[in-house]
Amino acid sequence: MCGDENDSRRCLLAVHFDYIKSVHSNICTSKKRWMDADSNQAYAKTRVSTNQHPLCAVCEMDVDPARSPKSEYQHHTFYFCMDAHKKLFDAGPARFVT
Ligand SMILES: [Zn+2]
Repeated sequence: MCGDENDSRRCLLAVHFDYIKSVHSNICTSKKRWMDADSNQAYAKTRVSTNQHPLCAVCEMDVDPARSPKSEYQHHTFYFCMDAHKKLFDAGPARFVT
């Protein structure tokens, strides 16, 4: 196959292509691993509304339970960052409660 110069050049290209493919698959593998780690991190960062640190039920920003508007729904108290979000929630609580 690698008799004359053209053939050997083609062989080099083929070898080079295999090398690129293997490097590329390594990159893909490590990228996937990185993306998995990233999604784990995102999952860990998922904010949960608790009694100690309630979040606005509509936009999930921090709220001060002592001063923020709140609504009762299905025996739970939901807090809101502003009246507009309380009204949004009151109009259709099921949309915000999972
Ligand atoms: Zn809000």
